Amino acid sequence: MLMSYIIWQSLALGVLILVMGLTGAILLVAINREEDREETGLQKKLYLVPLDEVSRGLADWLGSKLSSKFRFKINTSMVAKLPEESYSASRDSYFSSIILNKLQFLKASEDEYILAVTEEDLFTPNTDYVFSSSDGLAGVAIVSAQRLKPEFYGLPQSDEVVRMRAMKRAVHEIGHLLTLDNCDENSCVMYSSKTISDLDYQSDKFCHGCKLELTLPVKVPKT
Ligand SMILES: [Zn+2]
Ligand SMILES: [Zn+2]
Repeated sequence: MLMSYIIWQSLALGVLILVMGLTGAILLVAINREEDREETGLQKKLYLVPLDEVSRGLADWLGSKLSSKFRFKINTSMVAKLPEESYSASRDSYFSSIILNKLQFLKASEDEYILAVTEEDLFTPNTDYVFSSSDGLAGVAIVSAQRLKPEFYGLPQSDEVVRMRAMKRAVHEIGHLLTLDNCDENSCVMYSSKTISDLDYQSDKFCHGCKLELTLPVKVPKT
């Protein structure tokens, strides 16, 4: 009798430990999922807008990956056209500010962000080229795949490399849309990479300081 009582006690204890272990594991999964999200609390919509047929695949891929990083409702829109007036024949490149200015008219409400993707090269009056650009006040951003391609630098073509680089630029510009400034930490995704080697060195994650900034109360976005 005593023996069976001890066995039952041991069994009950075993079941209790198992249940506690399972609960802990489930909680851990929940916490890890939460930590995977780089930004919390916002329920905005993010539209990926391909600006040419070729960019549709990259836009779709970015959309699927960004949905695990941010709490946006993410969709890829129809292909839109680059505004002709943004093209500079002398540079054979597109003026990013004009594109951003036009993109904001695609927004249906203030709750939407737009991230456009193009194959074409981008420039600003101060720089010969930019990998990407954004207007925080307008809530719009653009990434160019042109200089993210290994073949641009005489190396073998790789979709994987283009995707990894585009992801960093997309997260960087979304960081600006969420009011973050450029960061001095060169491994942080908010570091302002000017060269492809800078871009390859930096990660697609926010550093501790930038992560903290993201959790502060909403402030007025900077351009
Ligand atoms: Zn920046
Ligand atoms: Zn940072």
